[in-house]
Amino acid sequence: MENRPAQTDSESRRLQSAFSELLLAWYRASCRKLPWRGVEDPYAILVSEVMLQQTQVRTVIPYYERWMKRFPTLETLAEADEGEVLKAWEGLGYYRRARLLHAAAQMVTSEFGGRFPSDPETIASLPGVGPYTLAALASIAFGHAMPVVDGNVIRVLTRWFGIRGVPSRLPARREIAETARRLVPREAPGDFNQALMELGAMVCLPRRPCCLLCPVRRGCAAYAEGAQARFPEAAPPKAVIRQFEYAGLVIREGKVLLCRRGDGGRMERLWQFPSVLLPKESKKWSARWKSKYGALKETVPLTVLNYSVTNHRIRLELHQIEKFQRYKLPSAHWVPLAEAPKLAFTAAHRKLADRFLTGADRLHPAEPWKNDR
Ligand code: SF4
Repeated sequence: MENRPAQTDSESRRLQSAFSELLLAWYRASCRKLPWRGVEDPYAILVSEVMLQQTQVRTVIPYYERWMKRFPTLETLAEADEGEVLKAWEGLGYYRRARLLHAAAQMVTSEFGGRFPSDPETIASLPGVGPYTLAALASIAFGHAMPVVDGNVIRVLTRWFGIRGVPSRLPARREIAETARRLVPREAPGDFNQALMELGAMVCLPRRPCCLLCPVRRGCAAYAEGAQARFPEAAPPKAVIRQFEYAGLVIREGKVLLCRRGDGGRMERLWQFPSVLLPKESKKWSARWKSKYGALKETVPLTVLNYSVTNHRIRLELHQIEKFQRYKLPSAHWVPLAEAPKLAFTAAHRKLADRFLTGADRLHPAEPWKNDR
């Protein structure tokens, strides 16, 4: 299939202009009522856009509503402590977003006197604001004609224009960006961007696009050829990596041993039970544990949980540890059992915490071992 059916320039311009008009009319008549639609506060728009990155709308809605009650203004977010911010984000994943949002609020407060910047260059200097968030915020909150390109937009544009190639790679990436830039109107660019995303989310679906309900069916290259499933082209899948995680529940004197993840990696600064990650299932996981935290003895298996992070499939075993040598890790802390559930855990360890921390003070306490007092 060619990138577009052969058309004269004027026919192509006419179709593109009809595309924008029909799309906007459809959006204004039938878009979903979402809590951030029609909102003008750039802070609220930023919160919704950051939450919507890599997360589905229905998951975001309750988080957004709770967040806006807890941190209704930029100032309330800027003044909050990081633990509170991460706790409010808990379960939404990609926690770096929460930390950057917090840092952005602090920057607006400290450097711009609490007034949200409106020019694209300054917005782009805020922590965590990449090209997608910049275009969404600048177009929706401030009316700049900047095109938003996300997964939904890519699907609509590659189908409608018949753009070949994997969208994350050149030259397709450039062609998509150029097409989106050409389409975005000076009038109501925010509505147009939201309309394109809404079409991708509600009509031009990945597996079964509802072409008969599509307001821009006429002129769609993929529809004309019955080739919707071929767009956008998929990148070859990443190989699945299996991993085995062994975690320990160590209780002593009404406290539980927990670790805080470091900066820069996955799920940074979230809490979890102390654990080791191995590439293979192994009954000798305690040797790895010893090198990381100190020796242990007399463990009782409590549960097994399977979870995925990107292309990693992880089998997590939780063991109660009854004898241990002093832990060595600076990030490990004895946390009172009543306080521990209030911390922001990684998603998998949150499930363990919910199940095993309540009533854990009735468990057999761990004893120091090997002269460790
Ligand atoms: S006609 Fe079908 S494939 Fe084309 S944009 Fe509309 S929903 Fe997508």
